[in-house]
Amino acid sequence: MPVAEFTAALSAIKTTTDLLKLGIEARDDAKIKSASIDLTNQLLDVQRLALESNSQQFDLEKKLHVSQERIHELEAKERLIEKYEMVEITSGSFVYRIKEDKRGDEPIHHVCPNCLNDAKKTILQIQRRPTSATIGREKQKLVCTNCPAEFDLPQTAQPSAYYSGGRVIR
Ligand SMILES: [Zn+2]
Repeated sequence: MPVAEFTAALSAIKTTTDLLKLGIEARDDAKIKSASIDLTNQLLDVQRLALESNSQQFDLEKKLHVSQERIHELEAKERLIEKYEMVEITSGSFVYRIKEDKRGDEPIHHVCPNCLNDAKKTILQIQRRPTSATIGREKQKLVCTNCPAEFDLPQTAQPSAYYSGGRVIR
């Protein structure tokens, strides 16, 4: 807010008002007219400053609102991520698993790391996928239903065993 400009404008108005009073007392039409024109211009300056100030305040309130929303988003993301821990399901393949002490009534599950980084909880599903090496053969993978991410399951892991113990089978 241009406080210094407001102060200067109000000071100029005071000076002009004093000149106007002198002009009126002296019944000097030229001085009255000149002071009136100056006063009108100075009042227009103050009005402009007030409008600019309102506009700046509006912009600041808008930025504050955006910042508060961003903070809420980040807090929600942090609360979500805190519930999970990174696990290596096969060599070099990482996903997030619900922490035992955070899962409550939820079953043990794994979520997509890509989606979790975007504050989205996408539970990975076991699905059969064709292997690229041999036509007609399939293997089970953990698949994200929200993005293209797929993760190899350990060769020996059966889905029921995989989820039953709460620990990743290596
Ligand atoms: Zn995903």
